[in-house]
Amino acid sequence: MLANPALVEILNRAIEKPVSREEAIWLMAECATDSLVATAGRIRDRTRPDIITYSRKVFINLVNLCRDTCTYCTYKKEPGDALLSMMDPRQVLAIAEAGKKFRCTEALFVTGERPEQKYEQARSWLHKFGHSSTVEYIQEMSELVLSKTGLLPHTNAGSLTKKEMAMLKDTNVSLGVMLETISERLTEKGMPHEDAPSKNPKVRIKTLESAGELRMPMTTGILVGIGETPDELVDSLFAIRQLHEKYGHIQEVIIQNFAPKPDTGMAQEPPAQSEYFRRAVAMARIIMPDMNIQVPPNLNPDTFGRYLDAGINDWGGISPVTIDHVNPEFPWPSIKSVKQVTEGRGRRLRARLPIYPEFLKGGFITSDRLMQYAGLISDDSGLVREDYAND
Ligand code: SF4
Repeated sequence: MLANPALVEILNRAIEKPVSREEAIWLMAECATDSLVATAGRIRDRTRPDIITYSRKVFINLVNLCRDTCTYCTYKKEPGDALLSMMDPRQVLAIAEAGKKFRCTEALFVTGERPEQKYEQARSWLHKFGHSSTVEYIQEMSELVLSKTGLLPHTNAGSLTKKEMAMLKDTNVSLGVMLETISERLTEKGMPHEDAPSKNPKVRIKTLESAGELRMPMTTGILVGIGETPDELVDSLFAIRQLHEKYGHIQEVIIQNFAPKPDTGMAQEPPAQSEYFRRAVAMARIIMPDMNIQVPPNLNPDTFGRYLDAGINDWGGISPVTIDHVNPEFPWPSIKSVKQVTEGRGRRLRARLPIYPEFLKGGFITSDRLMQYAGLISDDSGLVREDYAND
């Protein structure tokens, strides 16, 4: 691609000032990838210099039954599947205690979308513990893990209502729900979200808005390469930026690349092309200069360092204890190797809590008890004490 002077001018301005949607669409369509990446890197160096973070976590796969069906997903299981997970409190606590031994600070609770609405098996499992909804059980398990181990809960249970999120505010330092895409086109017949009503962008935006009203720090992000157009990708990033401008509660934005998996509806689709994905990562930084941008290293095991060049400042959760149950075919790299890659690019790797420092210090946590637990394992900077998580 030629260096169009007007594009160069937008890039130069982007280093100091967020771009408009029209500018972003144009950059995504026509700017050379190396120029996008170099600009994104310079923006990150201005707004997030020196320290790259990760969260040392355990992945608690509470229940992997799911009411919805996304055509790329292998996380969701059916009754009778050998990998069906329906955890009891003893199993939950055992994982959290193992995490404590490895100095993890995050207990990531993940579930399918409202399994009790579809499966009698889920209803009777919840009933056994005295609950009628998954979120009630998450609330109890969050309390258990927090009080017994001090690991800080972070829940991703899909599209929760405001009332449900409020139930988790005293035990969870943050919540997660991927926007994935703002494109309603991807809910149409034959598209990946046709049978996933919770992935309708209106539903996801509503969840993220409700979280904003509750001042819950939120993790969200996009899934790149599931059939969106480049314009739709830019619009998804703008939707996230606008939510943050309104509520100030988006603590991180995950940029995740689609990888086809066997035995799914999208098994024959191509993965997100690496050039396109690199452009997407750089555009995220250009569109959201001051926000935390993350690419999970396990999904790009041989090339993850290049996303530092494209402006990210976080690697997300890495577990020395549990696998990534959403992407079990992609083992997490060792924290040591992530540190080497990070330092090889002249940055320091630090462990963070499942709530970023600016949110921990910014009055988002209203529970004194949660603040006390966070205070035990963090230092003045709001990151994990270096004598606690020192690899
Ligand atoms: S991606 Fe989430 S909502 Fe979609 S089928 Fe899998 S578990 Fe369910």
